[in-house]
Formats: sequence, C-alpha cells, structure tokens
Amino acid sequence: MYILGDYHTHTTYSHGKNSVLENALIAKKKGLKEIAITDHGINHKCFAVKKSDLEKLRQDCNEAEKLTGIKIYLGLECNFISYDGDIDVDKDVLKYLDIFLVGYHKLVKAKTKKEEISLFLRNNISKIFPVSKSQIDKNTNMYINAMKKYNINIITHLNHSMKVDVMKVALEAKKHNILIELNGKRICFSDKEMLDMANAGVKFIINSDAHSCNKVGEVNNAINLVTRLNIPHDLVVNLDKLPKFKGNENELIQ
Ligand SMILES: [Zn+2]
Ligand SMILES: [Zn+2]
Repeated sequence: MYILGDYHTHTTYSHGKNSVLENALIAKKKGLKEIAITDHGINHKCFAVKKSDLEKLRQDCNEAEKLTGIKIYLGLECNFISYDGDIDVDKDVLKYLDIFLVGYHKLVKAKTKKEEISLFLRNNISKIFPVSKSQIDKNTNMYINAMKKYNINIITHLNHSMKVDVMKVALEAKKHNILIELNGKRICFSDKEMLDMANAGVKFIINSDAHSCNKVGEVNNAINLVTRLNIPHDLVVNLDKLPKFKGNENELIQ
C-alpha cells in the first residue's frame, strides 16, 4: 500500500527549504507519479507566497514537470480571513492554480483587526484553557461557510490549532466533493472521528506537508492510521491510484 501522489508540499516560495525541482526529483526517486506545490496563501504574515511570484512559480512547475516527467500541480495552502468563511484568494491568484487547499494558520492578516485577534487568540489560548463550545461552533461554521463559497479541493490538517466539530465539517466537505487530508505530520482527530467519517463515506487524501524535499512522500503515520482502523482504500483517493481533482478552472463558486 502506497501513495502515488503527494499533494501538499512547500518550497522556498514560502518557508520550505527546497525548490520545486528538488521536491519533484525526490518524488520521482521515491516512485511518486505526481506532486503538488502548495505554498502558504498570500495573507500569511510570515510565510506567504508573493502574488508577484506566482507567474515564476508556475514556470518553475512547468519546467520541473518537463525535466522529471512527474506531473506537477500548482496549488496554494490558503488561509481563513473571516468567520464568514472568506479566504485569502481572488481571481488573480486562482487563475494560476490547478488545486486549492485551505487550512487554518496562525499569524494571518484577516479581513478586520477584530477578527484577526479573535481568530488567533480565541483558538490559541486553548493551550492554557479549553476552547469553549461556542468558539468550536463558530470555527465549524467558518469552515462550512468557506466550503459553500469556494471551489476548494482539500481541507488540510483539520482540527489542528483550531478546534472544530470534525464530523460536521467532514459531512459538508462530502457534499461539495472536498477531500479531508490525512496529514503526514499530524492527525488531529480521534479514531472514533476517523471511523465515523469513513462510515459516512467521506473521502480522504494522504499528503506529507513536506517543508523539505527529503520529507516529500513521507506519510507513514497516515498510512498506519488507515491500516490500523481498516479504512476502505477506495475512500483514500491517492492510495494505489491517482486522484481526479474537480474543476480545472478553480473559479469561485459565488
Ligand atoms: Zn498548514
Ligand atoms: Zn502546509
């Protein structure tokens, strides 16, 4: 059992350590057929891809694809910028992308200062105090709103740093044909939640979230989870097969 593609990898365009070509070369060496380059969305305060770099990043992907024979998708791992489910993308950004990932990250410039403080503080104070039920509901609704508004392909590291009702998010994702990531670095839901999602027919994708080229394709913890819980392989779109992503146009739904 192995993955044929890794659709969440970072490069020096955000805070990864290696180039697009270096990620692709390692992927090829490890027997992968496809990868995606998914650096951080444009509102991240420390690690954002610059809008002005997207053209160059697209060229790098095309060149690395030619040199290695590996298919390379260009994506971004975008950020929430409001509780209404707004994301830091616009048509000028989306026109470069083949796939569109969304995950919660700290230190993101939000739509308003008030939301910026709330998105960061209310969720990260959890290290000291548990997150309240009303905050979890607010976070869950943010994900649901975003999935209704945008043509998202993958939700990355769900429940990491921002607690949500995992099942509610996953069921909404299923409605829109959005994949829930099993992240190679961290899986932040319980075995019960994983089994409930699988029983409901939610679709998953296994990705490394590599920030250096030697981590591309390293997803043992996700593979172990699938094995240990006996998750049907047809629910994991890149396990022993290649996924088909919905919509190449990546247009906003609204
Ligand atoms: Zn992330
Ligand atoms: Zn990432």
